Amino acid sequence: MSIQSLIPTYICDIAPYQGGKPISEVAREHHLEESSIVKLASNENPLGMSPKARDVILKSIDQIYRYPDGNAFRLKNAVSLKFNLHPESLIFGNGSNDVLELASRTFLKVGDEVIFSQHAFAVYSLVTQAMGAIGVKVPAKDFAHDLAKMFAAISPKTKMIFIANPNNPTGTLISKEELKTFLTKVPSHIIVVLDEAYDEYLEIENKSESFSWLSQFSNLIISRSFSKAYGLAGLRVGFGVSDPEIIQFMNRVRQPFNVNSLAQDAAVAALMDEAFVSESKILNNNGKKQLESAFQRLKLSFIPTFGNFISFKVDKAPQVYEALLKAGIIVRPVTNYEMPDYLRVSIGLKVENERFIQALEAII
Ligand SMILES: *Cc1c(COP(=O)(O)O)cnc(C)c1O
Repeated sequence: MSIQSLIPTYICDIAPYQGGKPISEVAREHHLEESSIVKLASNENPLGMSPKARDVILKSIDQIYRYPDGNAFRLKNAVSLKFNLHPESLIFGNGSNDVLELASRTFLKVGDEVIFSQHAFAVYSLVTQAMGAIGVKVPAKDFAHDLAKMFAAISPKTKMIFIANPNNPTGTLISKEELKTFLTKVPSHIIVVLDEAYDEYLEIENKSESFSWLSQFSNLIISRSFSKAYGLAGLRVGFGVSDPEIIQFMNRVRQPFNVNSLAQDAAVAALMDEAFVSESKILNNNGKKQLESAFQRLKLSFIPTFGNFISFKVDKAPQVYEALLKAGIIVRPVTNYEMPDYLRVSIGLKVENERFIQALEAII
């Protein structure tokens, strides 16, 4: 008897998630000093974390022997105050990935259909498949979500739709008007999960207004992350916002202590440190210009981005990726996103971007 025969086919069929290569692994494999390696592979904040979050973590560390607050009371209040949301409409996750998974575990059963876009964040198909639900991948339009086609893909079996705005790895953004029109058309028995992990990087005029739509759409779940602009990727914390009834059911499948105590305390501090987030955004805007002008100079096409990363097109992308690794620069291949001719680079510090540009120029 094989182990595989014990496992549902839909689990066997899951392709493992491919993350950015860790610095330690590249150092080992290429005999490089860890400190000489530039990692621009996972859209982390190149400024690190808010110093206020760091202080809080150091203060909280002695409490680590205790279980965290399973209801994340303080963090819930902080988010509720900052965004003017009812505490009962909030749920916290071990990263926003956890929130995406909680949504799928709450609503999906074997055979349900879940719609997402081609080139959309890989986790949507993972959490869909893990439930035995069927992913319906809708072709993108110029790398962006094609909402008209996504709407047309709705069938009697459709239970959920995932939308990333901005999307990773393409960096594309759907306008508020288009998104709201789409939500108005989607039948209310279909759950729409709107993933806004990069909202902090958007300019005022593009910033999401989705929280204000919650009263109109009881089928909407919005997810936010502390991993990107807030700089807490390693701590794992994110949150979901939805109708209190939905949140109540999501809480039933949530592990009681899914968000650790350091993460809860650091997230409160990070949330209040608006100066750090705006500094991160300014750095990102400057880095974006720096990288875009380098791509133009090198005659490489790229997808204009609303995030903290850029996907650019290059001949022989796998070889360029390997050559960059050898030079101590980690970027992200996106073949698993059906973009085999592209690489994705996270926007780093000025010096990191410069090292990447110089290495790239030497390779191509
Ligand atoms: C990085 C990212 C997230 C964040 O995941 P966390 O679990 O919060 O670290 C969510 N969605 C998208 C599209 C992302 O790129």
